[in-house]
Amino acid sequence: MPGFQLRMATQRGEKIAEEFGYTRFPVKPHEIAKARNIAVVAKPADVKGVSGAIIFAGDNATIIYSTEHDNEGFENFSICHELGHWFLPGHPEEIIGAGGTHFSRANFTQNTSIELEADHFASGLLLPSKLTRRFLSDNQIGLDGILKLTEEARCSVTAAAIRAAECGAYPMAVIVSKGDQIAYAFTSETFKNLGKLAFLRKGAALPISATRRFNADPKNVLRAERAVDETDLATWFDGSGRVVLDEEIMGLGSYGYTLTVLTGEHLPEDPLEEDDEDAELEKSWTPRFAYGR
Ligand SMILES: [Zn+2]
Repeated sequence: MPGFQLRMATQRGEKIAEEFGYTRFPVKPHEIAKARNIAVVAKPADVKGVSGAIIFAGDNATIIYSTEHDNEGFENFSICHELGHWFLPGHPEEIIGAGGTHFSRANFTQNTSIELEADHFASGLLLPSKLTRRFLSDNQIGLDGILKLTEEARCSVTAAAIRAAECGAYPMAVIVSKGDQIAYAFTSETFKNLGKLAFLRKGAALPISATRRFNADPKNVLRAERAVDETDLATWFDGSGRVVLDEEIMGLGSYGYTLTVLTGEHLPEDPLEEDDEDAELEKSWTPRFAYGR
């Protein structure tokens, strides 16, 4: 069951952060690598196309990371992804079995199991639940909050967005897209209660939306422009009710992807904690839960 494997990978990352004594942001992957005698080397910026690599040689390993995007958060995430290949059960064996050198494309856009597991390990390591929840309880929800979390945790914007949805009590959907296609989507547990949600599949067409219009001009993505619009649940998820949402959009620069965050200010923090006044409204939602993901 892939969902289970990915949660285990996230938890393994969190455990490593705890073992190394991190009780506040930022977790520092260079320190962790050093403690394990793993050499960490920056890859020349003109070598493009991979986020990093890990090379196993005997009992030692070398991590190479890309500086192509000139972004500290992305570089930290890439190093943590490679550390995932070191710390996750089965990864060293699989990589050594295939010759000992593994090239990565980190940040949630790959479908193979070890790549996704390493991505989830990296987000657990850089953004442990306890620290992330503490941050979220003190900060505003939405793209501004995500960018502040990115800065505090020195991680990639995508990882901060996914962990904000994963650890926060607030309904939030995070969609990463490129051109007119969805690359990756993640919805919080409370967001799933808003209505019957069709799963947004990798490679599916982006709905007609502000995000799709934004992506039509590649300069918006490259210059890390931002946009805000109003949308609704039915636009993004087939067959849903009329729930109005904010659509916040940001280009992720030379990385080439776009982040969309869907939230709504009128949405309750947690349907279970609603008072009587809202009980009727809550009933009318007919909460449904996603199975098997
Ligand atoms: Zn990898």
